[in-house]
Amino acid sequence: DQSVVMMSVSVCCVKCPNDAESYGELIEIIDYSMSMAKKTRKGMITYTNELDLEKIKLEKAIEKAIKLAIDRDELLVYYQPIYSVKNGVYNSAEALVRLYDEELGWISPEDFIPIAEKNGLILEMGEMILEKVCRFIHDFKISDTTVEYIEVNISPVQLIQHDFADRVKTIMEKYGVTPDQINIEITETATMNVVSTVSENINSLVDYGIAFSLDDYGSGNANIDYINHMPFKIIKIDKYIIWDSFKNSKAGITLEYTIGMLNALELSIVAEGVETEEMKRQLTEFGCHYMQGWLYSKAVPDIEFMQLLQAEV
Ligand code: C2E
Ligand code: CA
Ligand code: CA
Repeated sequence: DQSVVMMSVSVCCVKCPNDAESYGELIEIIDYSMSMAKKTRKGMITYTNELDLEKIKLEKAIEKAIKLAIDRDELLVYYQPIYSVKNGVYNSAEALVRLYDEELGWISPEDFIPIAEKNGLILEMGEMILEKVCRFIHDFKISDTTVEYIEVNISPVQLIQHDFADRVKTIMEKYGVTPDQINIEITETATMNVVSTVSENINSLVDYGIAFSLDDYGSGNANIDYINHMPFKIIKIDKYIIWDSFKNSKAGITLEYTIGMLNALELSIVAEGVETEEMKRQLTEFGCHYMQGWLYSKAVPDIEFMQLLQAEV
């Protein structure tokens, strides 16, 4: 019996102590260059001046902060209310994860989510976030308020797991949360994944009774095909598209007609990044009925969110 193993060599040259002052730093740099070598630099020699060492160090530090927060159960979930213009109340809210690290301070999800997606930590993190949201819905008796459901951001990395739908259901059932109390936000890039697992997960959850929102609409490839063929109930218009429409008259026209099109399709439309009364007025005139943004509130901790709801009445 014999098997053939093909081997190739990629080399990384690190100047010590100039580039790496400790054994740990050296390993981090080599680790990074190895993952790069696998993708784009197979069989080549990489010199550290071709690598952005500061970026590597920051990424590693963020990765450590994520691991620590998961281990210590220190991930925070904040809630940002979504206002229904028709009903004059907050009818829902978006759950947004927050991470504080003793050394790095507050780290933006824009920075740590992509890292967690790269190293797979997003799976554990995503589950913890959903669990916190479900506990919140249960413990704070959200069904007694005007808030009908909480929107949870789900990463494409979660969506390609074959057991994703089942895991979601298990967590919800643990806290007695009903399918109409959770809404899942996904972006166009998530639906672009042609893997059948993605559509199996989505279909399974839709059958279960969970509604889906298309997040960041208009920012990527605003492909009409998704809207035509995916079971979305809500379309969330990206905040940069909203802001642009107030600076650029062409963007104002495309937004107005986009909202008209979405209304004709009987989809609910949420405008993100609503910061002023003027924005709210204009968007309402365009036919958008749900507003999310700093005009109402930033994302806040659970207790503060409950106070916001109480102040409404
Ligand atoms: P997103 O899903 O588009 O979330 C909306 C972002 O806009 C949030 O940023 C929110 O704080 C911010 N925002 C809302 N209203 C306003 C406004 O009026 N003005 C301004 N300037 N900003 C506003 P945040 O919390 O920093 O989150 C950034 C992104 O990180 C999110 O973008 C989402 O893609 C991701 N993210 C956040 N939480 C989670 C999570 O629990 N799971 C996953 N997978 N991704 C998350
Ligand atoms: Ca979102
Ligand atoms: Ca968004």
